[in-house]
Amino acid sequence: MAEYILASQNGRTIPTEDAIFGVNTRASQCIREYGKENVIDATIGKLLDDQGSLLVLASVDEVYRSLKPEEYANYAPIAGTPGFRKAAIQAALKNNTLKRIPRACAAPGGTGALRLAVGNYSSIGDTILTTDWHWGPYGKIAGEIGRSVETFRLFDNDRNFDVEEFRSHVNGLAEKQDTLLIILNSPGQNPTGYRLTDDEWKSVIAVLSALPSSKKIALVADTAYIDFAGDEDDVRTFLPLFDTLPDNVMALLAYSFSKTFTLYGMRCGALIGLAPDERTAEEFSRVTEYSGRASWSNCARAGQAIIEHIYEDPALLERVTAERTEIRNMLLARGAAFGEEASKCGLDMLPYNGGFFAVVPCENAKEVGLKLEKEAHAFTIPFGDGLRVSLAAMPMTQCRILPQKMKDVLSSM
Ligand code: PLP
Repeated sequence: MAEYILASQNGRTIPTEDAIFGVNTRASQCIREYGKENVIDATIGKLLDDQGSLLVLASVDEVYRSLKPEEYANYAPIAGTPGFRKAAIQAALKNNTLKRIPRACAAPGGTGALRLAVGNYSSIGDTILTTDWHWGPYGKIAGEIGRSVETFRLFDNDRNFDVEEFRSHVNGLAEKQDTLLIILNSPGQNPTGYRLTDDEWKSVIAVLSALPSSKKIALVADTAYIDFAGDEDDVRTFLPLFDTLPDNVMALLAYSFSKTFTLYGMRCGALIGLAPDERTAEEFSRVTEYSGRASWSNCARAGQAIIEHIYEDPALLERVTAERTEIRNMLLARGAAFGEEASKCGLDMLPYNGGFFAVVPCENAKEVGLKLEKEAHAFTIPFGDGLRVSLAAMPMTQCRILPQKMKDVLSSM
């Protein structure tokens, strides 16, 4: 750990090397030494084809190349262009019309959307609640702006959503704080691939509904992988349930265009507020726009222009959706193959319902990961009590062989 010399620590613990970066570097070295075909690199969080190239939707690429200079060179309004904001709501909700009032604010990716949520719907010094298995940057986003993160156990003993743990942590924090922000990443959770069932969402809502109405609650659904988790309508059936939330609960969707439109580097996302009434909808627009101005001023315009074009042309939208369905099916087939081989060789795996990643739970994940690298030339990311495997990055053939390799290493320890 580096000492702070001229910089301020501000309560943060910043490691000298990012854990994921370290594994990536070793994977690249191994590829140079043994050749690409002899190495399994299951670390990358981008959807690659079976030859290892980044998958970019051809229809989206065509729109990008057709942009006029003023569509990418000009500034965008702070909250995003009006067409983009409308399209973002359509993209997130699809065919669901809610009683709640939807509003959108542009953000640099899903990460920026989460930053807007945390900055505006929790207070400095607050503890934010999320699941034990979660995407690491939640803690960083919170810590950077004076909040911290507490976790509850995602899975009960039957590996369903642990509603009792959720209840106990919500109630505990609500006793100490007037505001409480909760982040649930579903469907296609990173790292597990878990999707809360609609009944589990109902339990979440019941827990929040039982809190005193004086508490200001924000429920954030991080939907980064929503369009890679299964049929796009089936995975959105939880959204209308947000209409049953009490008025002291703001529902927020951290929506990312990175995966859904293969625009990772374009830094395009939106925080969608589902407000109980006009006043809180107006407030959402006001506070998120202010925060955007204070953080990144405005977002890159090109991604917004691409999304606008797609949503104003139904034939184009249909083409984009069809192309995405094809690559999603490829990803889900990889997940099914990995799961099949895991059960054949008796390798344990957390419930995977879709998304880019799956988890093989194990003790001493770091050591197991290193042994797997050394003995099988297979690279995964140690994640708490397990190894995260990127199904998005592995060709089908490797999805079929990796489980046995993991089983062998685990059995030898
Ligand atoms: N949420 C989760 C769980 C993620 O894994 C990611 C990206 O990896 C994001 C949000 C943010 O995505 P981006 O900022 O790239 O749009």
